[in-house]
Amino acid sequence: MKMINITLPDSSIKTFENPISVEDLSKSIGAGLAKATVAGKVNGNLVDAVDLLESDCSVEIIRDQDHEGIEIIRHSCAHLFGHALKQIFPEAKMAIGPIIENGFYYDIDLDHSLSQEDLEKIEKKMKDLAKTKYRVIKKVVPKKEAVKVFKERKEIYKLEILKEIKEDETVGLYYHDEYIDMCRGPHVNSMSHIKAFKLTHIAGAYWRGDSKNKMLQRIYGTAWNSEKELKKYLNNIEEASKRDHRKLGQKYDLFHFQEEAPGMVFWHPKGWTIFRILEDYIRDKQIKAGYQEIKTPQVVDRKLWEKSGHWDKYRENMYITEIDEEHANEKRVNALKPMNCPCHVQVYNQGIKSYRDLPIRLAEFGSCHRYEASGTLHGLMRVRQMTQDDGHIFCTEDQIEEEAKNFINLLSEIYSDLGFKKYDIKLSTRPEVRVGSDKVWDKAESALENAIKKLNLPYEVSEGDGAFYGPKLDFVLTDALDREWQCGTFQADFNLPERLEANFVGEDGVRHRPVMMHRAILGSFERFIGILIEEYDGNFPLWLSPIQVVIMNISDKHAKKTKEIAKKLKSKGFRVKLDLRNEKITYKIRDHSMQRIPFQLVVGDKEIENNTVSVRARKGQDLGSLTLEDFSKLLDKNIKSKEV
Ligand code: ZN
Repeated sequence: MKMINITLPDSSIKTFENPISVEDLSKSIGAGLAKATVAGKVNGNLVDAVDLLESDCSVEIIRDQDHEGIEIIRHSCAHLFGHALKQIFPEAKMAIGPIIENGFYYDIDLDHSLSQEDLEKIEKKMKDLAKTKYRVIKKVVPKKEAVKVFKERKEIYKLEILKEIKEDETVGLYYHDEYIDMCRGPHVNSMSHIKAFKLTHIAGAYWRGDSKNKMLQRIYGTAWNSEKELKKYLNNIEEASKRDHRKLGQKYDLFHFQEEAPGMVFWHPKGWTIFRILEDYIRDKQIKAGYQEIKTPQVVDRKLWEKSGHWDKYRENMYITEIDEEHANEKRVNALKPMNCPCHVQVYNQGIKSYRDLPIRLAEFGSCHRYEASGTLHGLMRVRQMTQDDGHIFCTEDQIEEEAKNFINLLSEIYSDLGFKKYDIKLSTRPEVRVGSDKVWDKAESALENAIKKLNLPYEVSEGDGAFYGPKLDFVLTDALDREWQCGTFQADFNLPERLEANFVGEDGVRHRPVMMHRAILGSFERFIGILIEEYDGNFPLWLSPIQVVIMNISDKHAKKTKEIAKKLKSKGFRVKLDLRNEKITYKIRDHSMQRIPFQLVVGDKEIENNTVSVRARKGQDLGSLTLEDFSKLLDKNIKSKEV
């Protein structure tokens, strides 16, 4: 008899006499695990919990709380939606139902246009069905049989999809009692895994995304492992819409957009103050970390973009300019720079560089223009003109690891100062189409990986996701509402130094190509400020607040002294607003509290007599009367600690 050896993630081996399903394997390990099992990963491939293990293999059990587990649950929830929908609207035709971030959607063809009430009814039906904890039956059938099943059910869209499948291939069918869906899987084996979900909204979507086709109804849903997680997610969405940086930008008078320059920001004094503080802060950090700051032109001849390859690959996103006819003798075609990199190579290329000069770290707060389709623009989060905290490190292959380590340290200090304690690192490795030898890729990939390992940081590997010119690290931070933002990047480039002929003279006296590392910490200032506005909900920490202190008089007779105090605070470098309006003090306080100004000072008879100011913090805390000196110390301490 042939025994089957199954290797588990802890390297232990279980041996069975007969083929065993993933769920039965789970049962043999423990009842708790069996209950949580939604699928398996066999030799790295996801399979259904009901699938049989027939030969030696390594198996990882995918549980409901695992990332892949919750995705499977969401996908099965889309099937459950179909099951419930067809009980209420048997005439509905099911198109596609994939998973998306945090949930799923299903495109359906139904003459009756679904209302919010209908959604509630369907959701209720889904809950009733899930409560029965029915088993989902999987059948793998020849294509012919699947065609027969969906013909009988008049599922015209499923039949369309089946046309793309070869005649001799098999198709996975999932039976939810009388409802049948088609899928590559895996899916949950039982509805007991479907615990918390909600249908959220409806939109229109063309079949196959083609506007020549019929418009279908797209129903969105979200699914989680527990009611608690679902509730948190729904709360976060609500909170995110309240905190929308476009609304807050208007409320706090930070910036605006207008038709004449779509996707380009008009910064108002307060918004620009935040921009400048952030820029000064990054500048200071970078110079201490060994960067030299440069500035390169905005408008650059197409010849350089042809050499760099952008003209060929990126032309449709570039703003092209031509010089007026009157200056015809100087007629040339230019582009507004979409990236700073080629210009940085021009600075590097001035004069001969020796191996002793490397690494050379150049930084620029580079303003770049990229044409983005108007439908994709989204406040500060997606713009056409952006300022990057861009930098390029020219170094040897042997220096990549050290540079990566230094960069990650710098980035984590900056994120932490800005209030983001958690970020994830993703290492993207060589894609199929690429430049550079395998030897160089080996070296660069392991340099990046070693740097993260030596810093003892967790990371994820994204095989094949690197750019064609080199591997990269991406840094994704998580905000207060559990949303992820990819901001930082550290990217090796073997291509651009070659195209733009960057050299250095090696120890051997021969010319070599440096490696160019592209790097950014915030990514774009515009987008990052958008993230900060939403993260803090307008309550910027003192060091970032455009106005740190507002000072108010109680009545006219206190105006002179109030002005004096404001002047003194300003001269110490604090950002101060003076409010001498002839309004009730309670009105003024309420007004400035709404504007979330961190500290509010009031000057009246008592304060003038004692030579103090009375201090309130923005959440209404009364800090009592302080001398100006003590108050300044309080500000200094708070600014220095970057307290949030
Ligand atoms: Zn670059």
